[in-house]
Amino acid sequence: FCYNEHHCDPYAWGDTFPSCHPLLEEHHSPINLDYQMSRNESLGALHLEGFDTVQTGHWTLKNNGHSVVLQVGSGMSVSGGGLPGVYHTIQLHFHWGSLSTNGSEHTVDRRRYPMEMHIVNMKSIHPNVSAALEDPTGLAVLGFFVDVVYADNVHLGHITRKLSSVAYKGWKNTNNPTWLLLPEHNMSQYYRYHGSLTTPPCSPVVIWTLYEVPIYASWSQLEQFASEMYSTEEGEEDEKPLHNNFRHIHPTFSRSVYASRDAKLLLGRAAPPLSSALPTHVFQITLLGGLIYGL
Ligand SMILES: [Zn+2]
Repeated sequence: FCYNEHHCDPYAWGDTFPSCHPLLEEHHSPINLDYQMSRNESLGALHLEGFDTVQTGHWTLKNNGHSVVLQVGSGMSVSGGGLPGVYHTIQLHFHWGSLSTNGSEHTVDRRRYPMEMHIVNMKSIHPNVSAALEDPTGLAVLGFFVDVVYADNVHLGHITRKLSSVAYKGWKNTNNPTWLLLPEHNMSQYYRYHGSLTTPPCSPVVIWTLYEVPIYASWSQLEQFASEMYSTEEGEEDEKPLHNNFRHIHPTFSRSVYASRDAKLLLGRAAPPLSSALPTHVFQITLLGGLIYGL
């Protein structure tokens, strides 16, 4: 599969991977996150085990032709926050755009962030990923939007410094583990829904947790992802850049999307409901207030 060529791009995945076909399965990811969600007071912060300590063991950074993947060692897990069990962390990877386009997979109120990081976790009762893909809640993915600021993110730097060593498909390198990538605060603000893998086989087995508060990267760090990576192997005649590696947005259909107890962004910003009981002039003031606030 691929992202940027007509014959194998995300719209064609269903030809080769039946479960990627949008008409056969109604649990596809990514989706747009908008005001059409309800708050679930029982969704508190997830419990992240081993994320704040320096892990030992073999961590591998790899270009698999579709993304840059950081395979992690054992010792990290995710639970709580409404997850049905303990999930072991297996890898993290990124989705990005190009030098002129944003490339997050999920969108927030139709806005696409520059990048998105996925931390993939597998339910601990399963011996391997193929077993987890048979369980409707076999995987839990934590999604973090990445926004661009002026300063380098030193923690992300542990990965971006090594990008040139995994420039081509199949290239690997060891990596120094760092979990300080995650935000220190606001980890209880997130959105939750049931969806799928965003890459083939698109299995509808993912409990998604998308954090409201983005992590940060500098423009030059983003540029390294967008312009230094290749989806082809070294020496291939037809060298192809690895960029715009995000799947298109899918309808939520009848699925529920929940805001966690502390989520602020979308529900906090929602317009007040129209009410005929409200005198017109009050409404105009409210709208004007909104405009001023917006400036
Ligand atoms: Zn992903």
